[in-house]
Amino acid sequence: METGAPTAGEPSLAELIRAGDLDAIAGFQVTHVEQVRSYCEIVCAADRVQEACDDVFLEFVGRVREGDAIPGADAALGGDAQLDELLLQATRSVSAARLQRRPASTGSRRAPRFEVQDASCAVMPELVAAAANGELRGDGEAVRAHVASCPACKAMTARLQRAERAFLRSGGWS
Ligand SMILES: [Zn+2]
Repeated sequence: METGAPTAGEPSLAELIRAGDLDAIAGFQVTHVEQVRSYCEIVCAADRVQEACDDVFLEFVGRVREGDAIPGADAALGGDAQLDELLLQATRSVSAARLQRRPASTGSRRAPRFEVQDASCAVMPELVAAAANGELRGDGEAVRAHVASCPACKAMTARLQRAERAFLRSGGWS
């Protein structure tokens, strides 16, 4: 299917996805699933990677339908230029939620547990992901301060950053 730049009068890929075009959604998923998987494999338990990938694309479609999910995004870009960023946001959000909910003893070497030091630690993965997505009110200073002083959350954040580099490499982004 055609996923390149739209010609005059044809809807963009973002517009097709926003309209619920199943071919457009499936096509986008096929071309980006390995990129999403490379992130989820680093953050999620091995037996949760597939469902995490599926949920990422569900959330991605939701974010595209919301249309204005990127603070300060240039509406003149027409949407397609934002799709990759929306996919990364959905990947961060879905993966962080799964990391948080994962039982403490998975026994998985690839997904080590992160020891909880205080009540803040439990919500830190999703807060760090929200900060990266630009979704936190203010400047996220409280989150940064916690991560800086908490070895467990510092390790968790380093893992999220490693996953993000894998995502960007897999997508061929610079
Ligand atoms: Zn912590």
